[in-house]
Amino acid sequence: MSKVLLASRNAKKLAELRRVVAAAGLTGLDVVGLDDVPEYPEEPETGATFEANALIKARSGARATGLPCVADDSGIAVDALNGMPGVLSARWSGVHGDDAANNRLLLAQLSDVPTERRGTAFVSACALVSPEGDETVVRGEWRGVLLPEPKGDNGFGYDPLFAPDDDAAAGRSSAELSPQEKDALSHRAKALTQLLPALKALGE
Ligand code: IMP
Repeated sequence: MSKVLLASRNAKKLAELRRVVAAAGLTGLDVVGLDDVPEYPEEPETGATFEANALIKARSGARATGLPCVADDSGIAVDALNGMPGVLSARWSGVHGDDAANNRLLLAQLSDVPTERRGTAFVSACALVSPEGDETVVRGEWRGVLLPEPKGDNGFGYDPLFAPDDDAAAGRSSAELSPQEKDALSHRAKALTQLLPALKALGE
């Protein structure tokens, strides 16, 4: 059994990567999280792009643990804001991880923007770095529209504000999708699926 580290303490992300790996039949791969390895200093995410930040996290995880390391960096990119909040998504209101404040600020900024100009994407970059220094970086995008007000209780972050284009007929927000429905469509799932060939090579 080969081990691969996901540089995250987020139980939902760990479970999601495990589901993707299991669904692909990669039985030789044991996915562990940061809580399963000795603590190491995590580097600040100073990159200008999702890809750069995913690489910062995956490189430091591989260097510190000697394990192949997967890291993801994600956020929301609003067309009318030229792709912002982007890499600043988690701290858009000035406080890191304050989802309610981030959502309030984004809604206020878009208050006068009509529906046809509220196009938005969730973006995820995922990096896999091996202890030998091999690097793979992939990107998944999920297009939708920024809603005028939040709805739904599932998910996290900006989910209550995002109505995916692939659910346009029902008009639900991504916080109204079940975890399984979100898994089948999301930016992170699309990125992780593209990592599968490189992950498969680890288990061989
Ligand atoms: P991180 O990559 O976990 O640091 O996430 C960055 C920020 O992007 C989070 O704080 C969320 O606000 C937002 N984000 C990333 N993925 C999602 C998602 O699937 N749903 C809602 N918000 C997301």
